[in-house]
Amino acid sequence: MTFGRVLFFMLLTLFLSAMPGPGLHAAQLRLECPEVIGIGLPFVVRVESDEPLDRLRVEWAGKTLTVPGAGKKAVEFLLGTDVLKSRPGSETLRILKLGLSPLAVQTSILVEQRDFPEQRLTVPTEMASPPAAVQERIARENAEIRAVLNTVSPDSHLILPLMRPVPGEVSSDYGLKRFFNDMERNPHRGLDLRAALGDPVRAAAPGQIVLAADHYYGGRSVFLDHGLGVFTVYMHLDDIKVRQGDMVEAGEILGLAGQTGRVTGPHLHLGLYVLDLAMDPAALFFAKQSQ
Ligand SMILES: [Zn+2]
Repeated sequence: MTFGRVLFFMLLTLFLSAMPGPGLHAAQLRLECPEVIGIGLPFVVRVESDEPLDRLRVEWAGKTLTVPGAGKKAVEFLLGTDVLKSRPGSETLRILKLGLSPLAVQTSILVEQRDFPEQRLTVPTEMASPPAAVQERIARENAEIRAVLNTVSPDSHLILPLMRPVPGEVSSDYGLKRFFNDMERNPHRGLDLRAALGDPVRAAAPGQIVLAADHYYGGRSVFLDHGLGVFTVYMHLDDIKVRQGDMVEAGEILGLAGQTGRVTGPHLHLGLYVLDLAMDPAALFFAKQSQ
């Protein structure tokens, strides 16, 4: 066979392998997610494939997330935006199917501004502006929290809807524009639920305790890792009843409600984080559950 004929057959083979054969169709990824979402709201993304999925790489808001496919043809995971860190406008969601026959799909999601009410609080001066002596402590604790919330554990334990950690009503919504003694501070990036001193605080979903600590702002706090970059955080506890490393079920007692940290009275501050973006946990409660 001459070199020219070899080249011809190689090119022909390449051409044919790029064409879908009779009775075959090119493998596809189908993506289900909202087209428009309010800022600070979490949302579920579903990816379906014609073939078993090995793993997906998800690119969203400058972050990446690897989602194991475990040989299934559909996976779901949680994403969202943050009232403080995100900006309204168009954001690209890109999904890459890794492994054999890699594929990529992408879509644009419009992040819409929402109007959040103002909350004005009068507090002791040292509470509005932490004294210089505690700045180092705050920086250290912030670094510890960022390291935890930027971890992506591969196993998803998240079960939706979330279970309410305390039966009390919402006392401060997510997103409130906050003023302490007329000075604007960061918006409220969690949900405050009414709770009396000593009320049990329960896990909103199954997961692993990855941090149980006493912080300047959050007081006694529990960080619960649900996998795939999703965390719920429980702050201002009077007492912590779990240890770092513990696996907990939804509804298991994590601690007792209190007023530790920077607060004006006993309540539970519940945080929801995905890839270190703080979003509104209220969006993931189906209904009030009696405990
Ligand atoms: Zn709060």
